[in-house]
Amino acid sequence: MIPPGETIGILGGGQLGRMLAQAAGKLGYQAHIYAPEADSVAAEVSQAHTRANWDDARALAAFAAHCAVITYEWENVPIAALKGLGAARLFPSVRALEVAQDRLNEKDFVAQLGGRTAPYMAIDTAEDLEAALVRIGSPGILKTRREGYDGKGQWRINYDHEADGIALGGQPMIYEGLVRFACEFSVILARGQDGAVVFWDSAENVHQHGILATSRVPAGAAALGQVEGARALARQVADALDYVGVAAFEFFATDAGPVFNEMAPRVHNSGHWTIEGAKTSQFENHIRAICGLPLGDTVLAAREVMMTNLIGDAAQAAPALAADPANHVHLYGKGEARPGRKMGHVTRLTR
Ligand code: AMP
Repeated sequence: MIPPGETIGILGGGQLGRMLAQAAGKLGYQAHIYAPEADSVAAEVSQAHTRANWDDARALAAFAAHCAVITYEWENVPIAALKGLGAARLFPSVRALEVAQDRLNEKDFVAQLGGRTAPYMAIDTAEDLEAALVRIGSPGILKTRREGYDGKGQWRINYDHEADGIALGGQPMIYEGLVRFACEFSVILARGQDGAVVFWDSAENVHQHGILATSRVPAGAAALGQVEGARALARQVADALDYVGVAAFEFFATDAGPVFNEMAPRVHNSGHWTIEGAKTSQFENHIRAICGLPLGDTVLAAREVMMTNLIGDAAQAAPALAADPANHVHLYGKGEARPGRKMGHVTRLTR
């Protein structure tokens, strides 16, 4: 067990790191952020910030020497950077990050365990895409294998001819058939160093333009009927990776059962509601897991919970939203409210 007062290193400096650092502080730990950017919203609420690039081996080693345990809040941390941390204790493991960083690896991994996915094929050349359109057909979605998030790096192909002459840009891609779903939901779990697993209630998630807009708990009937099967798969994946920490799994609820879409080896936007809506939040249980503390109770703390992201200009409504005592408003301290940028969120509890 890591005793309180010790330092937790967090790779990545965004809002997830910010909320992890706040949870670490609640349990008496110090947080040290490693992030290249000067204006890290995680560093703002932490005791230390190493501002250095991901390829700076000396800075990584010095950071590691200062931390009792290290975690990450961003799944695109280069694997080489993790190797630069030497023998430091890192949770979740490098392997979990390797699997989740690449949409193809992730889908292969889940499919090998018997999970259901959208039909998919790796795309490296125009010929591969032609073959995928023959085998899988349209409509479908062409996605970069790496570094896509919030709908970035994705192109919808409604008809086969839309793929004609498409510039692949030399990046490894994946083509997925479009899944017809009743709704989307996520399974979020925490797994301790002893292998104990806890789940939060599954949220039903609505995305707009590929970005999460709302998460609602309890989920509707279409999702609720599929949570058990989705949890079984999520647990299998976590066990196979000997995972330590919080992981999120996104699913489509379909007539054929739950279809796995993607996993995040970290705390997740669709779990922000747990800060006020559950007895123990995803952030606190992640800190507990990586520090070797017992996991906290994940039971719902309200009858209904609704989390709404404040994206771009929508954050201007924060003061008005804060006037309603049922709302819990979070702003991440980001400067510029660019369109599509997650500025904060509001969680509304119905007791
Ligand atoms: P992703 O980045 O893969 O999570 O995709 C973002 C969102 O796009 C998902 O939450 C879905 O709403 C939608 N989407 C992605 N892939 C598919 C698919 N194969 N079929 C249907 N919708 C999809």
